[in-house]
Amino acid sequence: GFRCGIVGLPNVGKSTLFNALTKTAAAAAANYPFCTIEPNTGDVPVPDPRLKAIAGIAKSANILPTRITFVDIAGLVRGASKGEGLGNQFLANIREVDAIVHVLRCFEDDDITHVEGRIDPVADAETVETELMLSDLESLERRVVGTRKKATGKDKEAIAVLPVMEKALAVLNEGKPVRVLLPELDPEDLRILKNLNLLTSKPVLYVCNVAEDDAAAGNEHSQAVAKMAEAQGASTVIISAAIEAEIAQLPEEEVGDYLEAMGLHEPGLDRLIRAGYELLDLITYFTAGPKETRAWTIDKGTKAPQAAGVIHTDFEKGFIRAQTIAYDDFVALGGETGAKEAGKSRDEGKEYVVSDGDIMNFKFNV
Ligand code: GDP
Repeated sequence: GFRCGIVGLPNVGKSTLFNALTKTAAAAAANYPFCTIEPNTGDVPVPDPRLKAIAGIAKSANILPTRITFVDIAGLVRGASKGEGLGNQFLANIREVDAIVHVLRCFEDDDITHVEGRIDPVADAETVETELMLSDLESLERRVVGTRKKATGKDKEAIAVLPVMEKALAVLNEGKPVRVLLPELDPEDLRILKNLNLLTSKPVLYVCNVAEDDAAAGNEHSQAVAKMAEAQGASTVIISAAIEAEIAQLPEEEVGDYLEAMGLHEPGLDRLIRAGYELLDLITYFTAGPKETRAWTIDKGTKAPQAAGVIHTDFEKGFIRAQTIAYDDFVALGGETGAKEAGKSRDEGKEYVVSDGDIMNFKFNV
């Protein structure tokens, strides 16, 4: 599955957010820096209003959203790359996720200790990023020695990997995260970089955890974060973990009124989950029938047979073609029959690159 790791300094609201995400009030958040020790993992359904629309038209008995995984990673502190706090554990856990959701404390509350003794989310972001960069630097400096040697000895793989390593090292030595390289690398070098599995090459999303009153409009802290994120080409989500924790406990029929009272259109978590999904460069296609309407997750750029393989490997092996209807056509034309009559149901072959929202019906040999 696809995994987003929730990181941030202690006491910024990670556990509160994670618990709201998984609706498990179990691991109660506490005002204590090292309360989250083992990484908690939760599969979260991806909210998608298109599911309901499709299911209504296809008269499906069930709706099955797709899911992504969030991992609550134990609190990082200054010095983690040198093994401070739960440093090594933290870095190992972060290595195993595909993207980073970085929670920043943007709320004032004198009762909740801040590890650095002040509210400054941009400085906090730098503290965390610095630890990640130091860890990458150390790991690369260790690995590059052998690669240089092998490259001199005409080892083909080392010759391909070395320039990417050197580029990453140069960037880190300038005090920048490796992800600044992403836009300039070709696909092959991107693959090499990904295999190096560096912490600062993972895409990042900043979550501004604001007080309840600031949930709708944000505050000066979240504005500062947004400015920083923009400069990095990263995105930002404003959320109030306290509100999300409240919503997670409400009966479903009361959520709408509560959101309205808070000046919100939808739960912040819905925005967060969607942002995480986008961060991972994922898209959704659908299957629809009387039994169920179901969302499936694929990487952007996936071709029809591999998309079918997400459902079952036999679908990929025996792939013949995919009857495909764009979501907008499906809705506008009242479903499969209408789309067929209007010539909007396409027969796509092995080279078809699936689009977000496609409603697909795979034909395959068994
Ligand atoms: P973590 O260490 O980052 O996982 O932080 P926690 O989620 O455990 O939160 C630390 C403390 O801050 C807890 O007492 C939470 O109730 C509190 N907290 C979390 N989010 C908010 C918030 O948005 N507003 C306020 N006032 N307190 C919060």
